[in-house]
Amino acid sequence: MFFRGAVAAVAMNREPGAVVADRVLAWYARGHRSLPWRAPRGQAADPYRVWLSEIMLQQTTVAAVRPYFKRFLGAWPTVEALAAADLDAVLRAWAGLGYYARARNLHACAREVAGRLGGRFPDTEAGLRELPGIGAYTAAAVAAIAFGRSAVVVDGNVERVVARLFAVTEALPAARPRLRELAGTLTPDHDCGDFAQAMMDLGATVCTPRNPGCLACPLIDVCAAAAGGFAGTLPRRAVKAERPTRRGVAYWLEDGEGAVLLRRRPEKGLLGGMVGLPSTEWEAGPLPDRAAIAGQAPVRAVWWPLPGTVRHTFTHFHLELALVCARLSGSGSATGAGGFWVPVTRLGEQALPSVMRKAIGHVLAGAGTPTAHS
Ligand code: SF4
Repeated sequence: MFFRGAVAAVAMNREPGAVVADRVLAWYARGHRSLPWRAPRGQAADPYRVWLSEIMLQQTTVAAVRPYFKRFLGAWPTVEALAAADLDAVLRAWAGLGYYARARNLHACAREVAGRLGGRFPDTEAGLRELPGIGAYTAAAVAAIAFGRSAVVVDGNVERVVARLFAVTEALPAARPRLRELAGTLTPDHDCGDFAQAMMDLGATVCTPRNPGCLACPLIDVCAAAAGGFAGTLPRRAVKAERPTRRGVAYWLEDGEGAVLLRRRPEKGLLGGMVGLPSTEWEAGPLPDRAAIAGQAPVRAVWWPLPGTVRHTFTHFHLELALVCARLSGSGSATGAGGFWVPVTRLGEQALPSVMRKAIGHVLAGAGTPTAHS
């Protein structure tokens, strides 16, 4: 394992890890990805931009993050500005990136940095980890990139490079501690931000998942998987269980003034604190029957089913959501249905999660709202 690198390093009288770090840094210096959150070479990185991009990039691609990052910086160019923003405005700007707890933590973290910390992010991994929404990976990435700390930064790209370099055949996720340990043997105590970003770039542009471009890789002569001809098979992954499907029914309740009932979901749990149409529980099994739909409805009414369903995929399950509609003759606020009423024409201004945008789109584009009322 890694024998070729070790041999080469001994020949050069260098530690194998140092050889890899030097090669990767030299490759990075010759040209790297231009990303809007990166500081130009030779300039200090802005911790706010680094932190914002790292939070956005969790579970999301660079291409998806670019427009969001631009929009956030345009609206809130500093951590103080973000801290002063209304949470709903932040959630609205985040809509479509998913994992809304991240947006809520982003706002909470900005408030803590702008308030308790006087606008300065902590410059150590330990200090960063005390802030809302900052886990081990993000703390390491911000510490290395924004503050030049020698932190071990291991995202999916780095995981892949390390697994191949050392020919780690153990499957993910069990292999993670080992991969992190091996990544630590490569991490230098100089140019730490560049090294972290160089490894990410190498994984994203050369050591790609399906067809690694080994011939263009600065590590080809020290890479165990390339030498063995099985780079494309690594990292291995444990077979994932099939995502289950849950089903539920959402209620479109329109009043005589053209307003629709929305409710805020509980703070804890899926889509915590987000606004949406009232709905039944989302559970495995068939769609709820008429009695269950009537039993969980926000008011007693004649509920009309809309044809078709809305499908949405969350991390751990697929959702199939049916819609039922009712129209009241008077003002909705008098019904005691809980939640709040928003004119149909202003629904687009709400910070709605993607699944609720789909559901509302389904109603508006579909069969239209019913004329019946109770
Ligand atoms: Fe990845 Fe190939 Fe480079 Fe090895 S030689 S690190 S497999 S691109």
